[in-house]
Amino acid sequence: MKPNIKVGLGYDVHQLIEGRQLWLGGILIPSRLGALGHSDADVLLHAICDALLGALSLGDIGIHFADTDIQFKGIDSKILLHKTFALIVEKGWKVGNVDCALILQSPKIAEYVPEMRRQIAKILFIDEDEISIKATTAEKMGFAGEMKGIEAKAVCLLYK
Ligand SMILES: [Zn+2]
Repeated sequence: MKPNIKVGLGYDVHQLIEGRQLWLGGILIPSRLGALGHSDADVLLHAICDALLGALSLGDIGIHFADTDIQFKGIDSKILLHKTFALIVEKGWKVGNVDCALILQSPKIAEYVPEMRRQIAKILFIDEDEISIKATTAEKMGFAGEMKGIEAKAVCLLYK
C-alpha cells in the first residue's frame, strides 16, 4: 500500500532595501535593510507556504494570495501561513516536519531562531522540534552575499 505521505519544496527571494522592516519567520529582526514586497515580505514564511502548497500540488503562494490584491498589502505573513495551513487541513493532511534554509549575509539571526521556530510551530500545530531553521551566509557572493536580496528554501513532509 502506498504510504500516505507527501513532500513539498518551497523557494522564495526578496530584495533588501533601506526603509523597510526585516520580518523573518514571523518576527521582526533589527536590521539596517529590510525586505521589499507587497506583504511584510517574510521570505521564510513564504517559502514554507510554497512547500505546503507544493506537497499537495496546489500551486504557489502567488496564486492563493496575489501580490496585486489590496487585501494582502502589508499583511503579516503569519496570516498567509495560517491560511495555507487551513487549506492543508481541509484536505485532510497534517504537517510532519519542516526544514528550512535562510541565505543572508547579515544580520546574524541565530539568536532569533528559537522564537521563529516557536511562531511557526504554533501556526502549524506541531512541536517546535519539528521545525528546523538553518541560516548560512552566501560567502559574500551573488545577490545574497552582496546584501541585495535574501533567500529562503523549505521542505515539508505532510501525512495523513
Ligand atoms: Zn515572498
